[in-house]
Amino acid sequence: MCGIFGITDNKDAARLAYVGLFTLQHRGQESAGIVTDDHGALLPYTGMGLVNEVFDNGVLGELEGRNAVGHIRYSTTGSSHIKNAQPLVLNSCLGNVAVAHNGNITNADAIKAKLQKDGAIFQSSSDSEVILHLAARHKGRSLEDTLARNLPKLSGAYAFLFMTPGKVIGARDPYGYRPLVLGRLGRSYILASETCAIEVAGGSVVREIEPGEMAVIAGGKIKFKRFAPVKRFTRCIFEQVYFARPDSVAVGRSVQTARYEIGARLAGELKDVKADLVSGVPDSGTVYALGYAKESGIPYQNVFMRNHYTGRSFIQPDQKLREFTAHLKLAPIRDVIKGKTIILIDDSLVRGTTSRQIVKNLKRAGAGKIVMAIASPAIVSPCYFGIDTPTKGELIANQLSLERIRRFIGADALHYLSLESLVEACGDRRDRNFCVSCFTGKYMEKP
Ligand code: 5GP
Ligand code: MG
Repeated sequence: MCGIFGITDNKDAARLAYVGLFTLQHRGQESAGIVTDDHGALLPYTGMGLVNEVFDNGVLGELEGRNAVGHIRYSTTGSSHIKNAQPLVLNSCLGNVAVAHNGNITNADAIKAKLQKDGAIFQSSSDSEVILHLAARHKGRSLEDTLARNLPKLSGAYAFLFMTPGKVIGARDPYGYRPLVLGRLGRSYILASETCAIEVAGGSVVREIEPGEMAVIAGGKIKFKRFAPVKRFTRCIFEQVYFARPDSVAVGRSVQTARYEIGARLAGELKDVKADLVSGVPDSGTVYALGYAKESGIPYQNVFMRNHYTGRSFIQPDQKLREFTAHLKLAPIRDVIKGKTIILIDDSLVRGTTSRQIVKNLKRAGAGKIVMAIASPAIVSPCYFGIDTPTKGELIANQLSLERIRRFIGADALHYLSLESLVEACGDRRDRNFCVSCFTGKYMEKP
């Protein structure tokens, strides 16, 4: 999971890209980068860390040009390296091309092996570079022609931004797994992972880029080009569950509204559960808990003080440190929880480590009973399309029965939301087709 943002025809392109990326920071904290087009020279700047750690006024001032594309990268284990920071810029027979990618190309290794046999030299270990190498070998009349020929060779999930001198192109995979939205700001066009980034940058949302569609922006004009047959949208439902910012709009409703309704539906499914109060695991669990409280009549309370200064969440080398970090980030509020039966809501249960830690901390601080309620179904299958849900072996719901998961996390009861409720809360009747493979193990295409 990553965030991408592009803007055209704007004298403040780099600064607005900064604002866009800053707004998308929740989508990735590992690295950040912006490339601008300064009269045909592509100026890249990337660094490790948060957007405001990578860029300052001086750097932004040097990133001249009226077009910009940017990227923030989500940390996945093992590949945390500056050479994988994006946007990537490659110089080839296509000229200078920058690419920013959100998603996961499932046949990248196979394509890469073939290209390397033919002599291609890759700069990064990321799957995103593959499309540029493919494109360099199978050129068309224009970059959009070249991409239209080559994007169909990719399998998996992608939202791409490409930039060449005078041109920015956005493209979305034929299922529309990963998000990409078009916006307008005066004469400028914006392409971004989420609507919140368009709005905070001062623009207004036009529409989503469709599955298998490309938006080509050059000379102040936009053209749309289809590179794959129309398929039904199969958006990743984990955007609503965890990834997207609550003020972003997807499938006709804000993520906040969807999560509130999910919480209410969860309460409907757990009608017989009695408790003194309901709370969410901050931040993502909070809205669900508010919806739950409204529907059930059980009062909402914050059971944790969330420390917002913990900064980057880094991968902790040992269990002691991990426990301490949880403790640093979420401190139980003792007199709220003392002896109480608490319905505690989190968005998802992946390995079970967060819930286990949190239940332990609450009990240690004097809580009575804890009913753990998860605002999504059990995750039984890995995601091959860019969400960091690990191998089958690491997914607790794939390994243990409900009762054994409950015991592992130390809760007095454990419930998951039904898939039906999740899907119904996330979109209108007409437009409710989501990728739910992680909950079902059924995939649109064999990965
Ligand atoms: P667990 O601790 O069970 O492995 O993971 C569940 C927790 O991780 C939940 O609190 C949820 O908010 C969070 N979560 C869900 N998906 C992701 C993800 O892709 N990345 C990160 N960093 N956290 C996630
Ligand atoms: Mg969480």
